This record gives sequence, C-alpha cells and structure tokens, in this order.
Amino acid sequence: MAKTVVITGGVSGMGLSASKLFLSKGWNVMIADFNKELGEKVYKELSSKYSKKQVAFQQTDVSNATSVTDLKTKTSQLFGKVDSVINNAGIFTKGALHEVAEDAWDRIMAIDVKSVYLMTKAFVPDMIEQKAGTIVNTASISGLTGDYNMAAYNAAKGALVNLVRAMALDYGKYGIRVNNINPGPTMTPMFKANPQSVIDTFKKASPLGKLAEPDDIARVMYFLASDESNPITGENIPVSAGFEIYSGQPV
Ligand code: NAD
Repeated sequence: MAKTVVITGGVSGMGLSASKLFLSKGWNVMIADFNKELGEKVYKELSSKYSKKQVAFQQTDVSNATSVTDLKTKTSQLFGKVDSVINNAGIFTKGALHEVAEDAWDRIMAIDVKSVYLMTKAFVPDMIEQKAGTIVNTASISGLTGDYNMAAYNAAKGALVNLVRAMALDYGKYGIRVNNINPGPTMTPMFKANPQSVIDTFKKASPLGKLAEPDDIARVMYFLASDESNPITGENIPVSAGFEIYSGQPV
C-alpha cells in the first residue's frame, strides 16, 4: 500500500522539491501551505502528472490550531493512515533582538516553532496508535550557529534543534522517529533573486564553493522520512555544503 506524507510549506522552495520527490517515489502527498493561489497552481500541475488520488492540497495556516486540525481531518479522509509529517513551513525575520518588532517575534515563533507543536498534537496520536511514523522538521544551520542580524530566526530554529531530541525521546517507544534537517543557504527561487555578487559571496563561504539546491534538501528529507534512515532519530542533520563548519579563525 502506498505511504502517505504531509508536507507543510510544500508549494515553494525545498518543500515543493520534496512534494515532487515523494510523488515520484509513489507516496500519497498532502501538500499544506498558506499560499492558496500557488497551492492550486501546484496541485493542478502535479495532479495532471500523477493521479488526483495521489496528491492533494489544503490551504493551511500551520500556526493556527483549527487550521491544523482541519488538515488532519482532511488528510485522514483522503488517504487514511499518515506515515510521515514534514514540518517544513517557515519564515525569516531580520534584525538584532532589540530591533525585532513584537508582532514579528510572535509571528516567527508561531510559524517556525508553535507549528511543530500543533502538527504533533494533530498527527502523533494516530502514529502512537499505529506504532510507526516519521517526522522531519526543517530547522536550519541558523539553529546550530549564531548569525549577525538574525536573532529571532536563530532563536526559533534553535528551539527546534533541542525540541527534536525531546520528541525523539518521548515517541521512540512507539516506533516513531523524529529528525531535523538543517539546511544552509539554499538556492531556492527567493535566494536566487539576490544579486549575483551576493550569491557568489555565499558560495565562497562554503568549502565546496557551492550551495545546496532545493532538490538536495528534498533527497535528505525523503531519506529521513523513509525506512532507509532507520534507526536514526533525534538528530540534527546539516545539509549545507559545509557552510557552517568553519570556526571563523583568520587563515
Ligand atoms: P519558501 O518561502 O520558498 O517556502 C516556505 C513555504 O512556507 C511557502 O510556500 C509559504 O507559503 C509557506 N508558509 C509560510 N507561512 C506559512 C503558514 N503560516 N502556514 C503554512 N504555510 C506557510 O522557503 P524555503 O526556503 O523553501 O524554506 C523552507 C524551510 O526551510 C523554512 O522552514 C526555512 O526557514 C528553512 N530554511 C531555508 C533556508 C534557505 O536558504 N532557503 C535555509 C535554512 C532553512
């Protein structure tokens, strides 16, 4: 029987790459994203390439409990058992901590952190009952290291870096594995919109002289969601072309 995955933020960037990869591997994919217009466009494209029975789109605000509960209900109606949840939706906010507006702080914490709590409350009870499941959270190397002018983002992704351990500990006895993927700067359409000089500076900071592509991230998401990664759990896996490994010492 085909497996089912729910992918939040699945209509753009690395989430879209993941939606396509899971479909190509024969999984049922529920794409959950706030962007309805893009979601309907992506759904049209993917349901014509695959089957309408294999893919669905549900407009979802991952920071809203009712919206997440509706997502769970719809997913169960369409596909039955859920095998994997990819908590990928996220936003970014710039600034040193005192410069971050209170509503921007609340918003990034709600979308990047509280969402994982809400998705867990909605989807994990069934996984506990079925004694199986995988969860992959998109954290960031910005949760593993500090950045200039990214205090709220560092805090949000840093919260996920330790939350994954708590989740893996609490759910391991039910056969549920939970891992984080920690991308570095990735060549998503939004990142590629930067001037070439900016992109080149980022590339130079990587030992490989390049940055990850969305498809690179999707492959590791798939690995972590599938049985191929058993028994990995509770881990933070950077996928960054080595971007964060340098201590910064002068050469
Ligand atoms: P993206 O903006 O292309 O995709 C994010 C998606 O999340 C969008 O489709 C957006 O509509 C959706 N989203 C935003 N708020 C939402 C909400 N409240 N409810 C549901 N969906 C919502 O970005 P991306 O670069 O592909 O980022 C995906 C994840 O990767 C994010 O968690 C981001 O923080 C993380 N990340 C990105 C990079 C990078 O360089 N792009 C690096 C490290 C980590």
